[in-house]
Amino acid sequence: MQYDAIVIGSGQAGKPLTFSLADRGWSVALIERGELGGSCVNSG
Ligand SMILES: Cc1cc2nc3c(=O)[nH]c(=O)nc-3n(C[C@H](O)[C@H](O)[C@H](O)COP(=O)(O)OP(=O)(O)OC[C@H]3O[C@@H](n4cnc5c(N)ncnc54)[C@H](O)[C@@H]3O)c2cc1C
Repeated sequence: MQYDAIVIGSGQAGKPLTFSLADRGWSVALIERGELGGSCVNSG
């Protein structure tokens, strides 16, 4: 499988970037090793 971008981490940086690129028509893979949402929503 090929993607236009691969974003590592679904935190405050990765999630908006992923959606922003997808809104522009990019195919994006978002890779998260822990809990979706990163430190802000899960522990902050
Ligand atoms: C207790 C606490 C309270 C906070 N309170 C506030 C506040 O009141 N106001 C404020 O503005 N900020 C606050 N922050 C800071 C805020 O949470 C961070 O600035 C923000 O979450 C950073 O976003 P980020 O996307 O850079 O990193 P993160 O949110 O940490 O997301 C990174 C993600 O990447 C994943 N990841 C990392 N390495 C890999 C890998 N190799 N492969 C796959 N996934 C990976 C992690 O699992 C994580 O989900 C707080 C932080 C903490 C810990």
